[in-house]
Amino acid sequence: MSAHTYSAASGLQHEEPLLFEHAHEAATSISLPGIDADTTHLKDFERRNEAKIPGLSEPEAVRHFVRLSQWNHGIETGFYPLGSCTMKYNPRVNEQVVRLPGLAHAHPDQPQDSLQGLLALLHELQTWLGEISGLPHVTLQPAAGAHGELAGMMMIRAYHDARGDVKRRKVLVPDSAHGTNPASAVLAGLHTVEIKSAANGRIDLAALKANLDDETAALMLTNPNTTGMFESDIREICELVHQAGGLVYGDGANLNALVGIARPGDMGIDCLHINVHKTFSTPHGGGGPGAGPVAVNDLLAPFLPVPRIEKHEDNYQIVHTGEQSIGAVFGSIGQTGVLLRATAYIAAFGRNHLHKIAEDAVLNANYVLARLKEAYHVPFPGLCKHECLLTDAYQERHGVKTLDIAKRLIDLGMHPMTVYFPLIVHGAMLIEPTETEAKETLDSFCDAMLEIAAQCETGDTSELHDAPRRPIRRRMDETQAARSPVLVWPQD
Ligand SMILES: *Cc1c(COP(=O)(O)O)cnc(C)c1O
Repeated sequence: MSAHTYSAASGLQHEEPLLFEHAHEAATSISLPGIDADTTHLKDFERRNEAKIPGLSEPEAVRHFVRLSQWNHGIETGFYPLGSCTMKYNPRVNEQVVRLPGLAHAHPDQPQDSLQGLLALLHELQTWLGEISGLPHVTLQPAAGAHGELAGMMMIRAYHDARGDVKRRKVLVPDSAHGTNPASAVLAGLHTVEIKSAANGRIDLAALKANLDDETAALMLTNPNTTGMFESDIREICELVHQAGGLVYGDGANLNALVGIARPGDMGIDCLHINVHKTFSTPHGGGGPGAGPVAVNDLLAPFLPVPRIEKHEDNYQIVHTGEQSIGAVFGSIGQTGVLLRATAYIAAFGRNHLHKIAEDAVLNANYVLARLKEAYHVPFPGLCKHECLLTDAYQERHGVKTLDIAKRLIDLGMHPMTVYFPLIVHGAMLIEPTETEAKETLDSFCDAMLEIAAQCETGDTSELHDAPRRPIRRRMDETQAARSPVLVWPQD
């Protein structure tokens, strides 16, 4: 058993053995009463070996998991400026909403007349997302942004196929795109061609034109793109793709910069997924949960997944039919918990104040940019949208890299920004503060970043190369962890 000391003052500094290392034979947290019924007919199903369950009392097991939870950095423990991820604070009222028993305990297979309240809320969300995106037809089924991309690509493929245009299999993807974009296109049976960005980080119109032809199914683009810059040629971009017979897929992960101000549908985008777990609270972590509703225009509406929630004269119905539908992409009507939190977040702002989300998010990002732009290299000068992009070019001269800066932030009690993404920018640091942070929090982050930059100038950078010093796990071999993970306790 490894030694372990727990220091409550700095939750990060204790070692936490595995449950098996904690275990001692005598204890058990399982106490089942004996059976006095005849079990002879169950003989064939009896265990042959002892179950390998670690011997622990209930409080020991509980403390293990609670201590582990304290190793986490969440939006409720500190600043979390993870660019592209929109890790915004999730207001407590959202949690109260989803815990209402009629919503929390609903089952997708219960009679529809007993689900009317839930269906009304989800239908309302569908309508709101249609209005917000400018694309009126919405499916709530996809369980993540990437899942929405897949559903969207399947719809676009079905649209071309329905017109007999079956050679349209090429999807153009800018080199600044999130990795899920090409992956989703390929999963939908399409193939991708990368479009090089221009020197200003935006789509290069000449490169786009050169790749458009009668095999183009779609362009997949993110606006603002992953450098935090608005694609100001968006109207022309969409027209070019449409003239070539293709459709435009919008990755809506950056909707936080636009919500309530500009609508992707009005820009010419045909199909958009919305990461409601980014734009409308419920910050995601550990792989979930999320939801990626997809909004489409009239062209793609016939291909939406089923089932869909429809409003009929005197009730709401889950409708399973759709002649040209791509079918179901989820086991039921959607991740209702995440969708309802989004409904609550939108309702809290209301139609007339939704634009405050984007305005404050953009203001916060530009505040950070303004405070840091002397100390850190800015690859694409000018105002940013909801996230700002810096690089380590100045610090690299002193041997300090983006990774060192990110690790040092952990010691200073903050989650690092997104690093080395977008891939087109060397040493990228993508910072997204969101609208939910106070100026004081932004200032303490900027102070920390300026302190790191100043430390580089002094020549003594050992603290940076050594970081993080506070957590028990420091710099791990992340490649090994991904390539050869040890996930099972060796049985003796
Ligand atoms: C987060 C993100 C995605 C993927 O969304 P998930 O909900 O994580 O599947 C796609 N594109 C961009 C730009 C993103 O930031």
